[in-house]
Amino acid sequence: MITRRKTRMVNVGGVGIGGETPVSLQSMCTTRTHDIDATVRQVNELAAAGADIVRVAVPHHKDAAALADIRAQVSVPLVADIHFSHTLALESIEAGIDKLRLNPGNIRDPGKIREVVRAAGERKIPIRVGANAGSLDVSKYGPPCPEALVRSALDEVRVLEDEGFHDIVISLKSFDVPATIEAYRLMAEIVDYPFHLGITEAGLLFEGTIRSSAGIGAMLAMGMGDTLRVSLTADPVEEIRVGSELLKCMELREGGITIVACPSCGRCEIDLQATAEAVKARVAHIETSRPLRVAVMGCVVNGPGEARTADVGLAGGAGVGLIFARGEALGRVSADAMVDELVLQVERLAAEELGQDADS
Ligand code: SF4
Repeated sequence: MITRRKTRMVNVGGVGIGGETPVSLQSMCTTRTHDIDATVRQVNELAAAGADIVRVAVPHHKDAAALADIRAQVSVPLVADIHFSHTLALESIEAGIDKLRLNPGNIRDPGKIREVVRAAGERKIPIRVGANAGSLDVSKYGPPCPEALVRSALDEVRVLEDEGFHDIVISLKSFDVPATIEAYRLMAEIVDYPFHLGITEAGLLFEGTIRSSAGIGAMLAMGMGDTLRVSLTADPVEEIRVGSELLKCMELREGGITIVACPSCGRCEIDLQATAEAVKARVAHIETSRPLRVAVMGCVVNGPGEARTADVGLAGGAGVGLIFARGEALGRVSADAMVDELVLQVERLAAEELGQDADS
């Protein structure tokens, strides 16, 4: 059980970050924000995949001009990602954005930052101070290192605080996992603002998933993190899928179906990978009000033990499969019927859970 760091809470368009609120999941659109239809479509895809908050890039005035239309057509809060131009931040606030991300590395005039902060304060729009190793002002803070990231973010935080503004979220991202963890750890000793976790430029789907899981997972285990984004060079829906699974692994998010599968070995008597993939695809649509664990095991040596402890389980044998539900052995089915039978049992349990919730 993870004991989370105590933080202030900020409200992002109805989604809390920090305090007692669950760790929320974010991703970022890859569309040109001024392409309103494409951006709305992608925001809605991300929301359907489980995103709590979605960020969009605002590099030009035409992007800021599109925000009000986009906001009106989506149900999740939107964050405007601003670099260099405080004018774009002001235009995004005017358009009704739910949160701003400012990079302390590239709006360096405190007077302009103060102008944005006052406008955000009037509309109660939180600001993420998003320091990034790649855009650190090295002339002021020196080469990127955890201490430099923290000093850079803190200088901007102090500008916001001087304006009486405390709806602040902090991120301190770098590609370097140990350095990122150290930066957040140092910052946690200084402030109680909520943290947005991430490992920046983490890479392609496979490499980025591992790098992000190592870094974000370690920080979550240390109790840090109030919202997170897994950065992947992939469809952003993958970021939400990975982030969601990561939160489930850390027992910080419940719900949905989790597939447990053995790695298979020389005892395996079924095509384990194909069977597990088939089960995963066939149960993806099933709605459940409580988490359900579905085990796919390759033999009758260790398989029945695992299959029995899952909500629904299969232990493959030579030409047959043993099916279990809630610890009870339901019997044998032929190999070509075992996926169908397993899915049937998952559907049955999920329907029971939904029915119980409706009755209560
Ligand atoms: S459950 Fe059976 S097949 Fe799977 S890894 Fe264990 S011993 Fe091997």
